[in-house]
Amino acid sequence: MAGALLRTGRRESKFQVMNVKCPTCGKSAEYSPENKSRPFCSERCKLIDLGEWASGNYAIPVQTPPEPEEFEAALEAGNDPGVLH
Ligand SMILES: [Zn+2]
Repeated sequence: MAGALLRTGRRESKFQVMNVKCPTCGKSAEYSPENKSRPFCSERCKLIDLGEWASGNYAIPVQTPPEPEEFEAALEAGNDPGVLH
């Protein structure tokens, strides 16, 4: 039992670093002071779990569908969007 505690030798710390399962996506997440999103693997998973993801309070750059601004920008540039299709 005592030997198992010695395997995390990268840094002497009072905080025992563990690997936990991210409650949101199930990936392995490091439960340590460096992981501010613990016990989640990432900030994103944490927000999803908190429900902020769905409420739209927090904007994270992700793959989003094309914005209508592109269409309007084309109009302002003098291009006829009709010719794009
Ligand atoms: Zn996760």
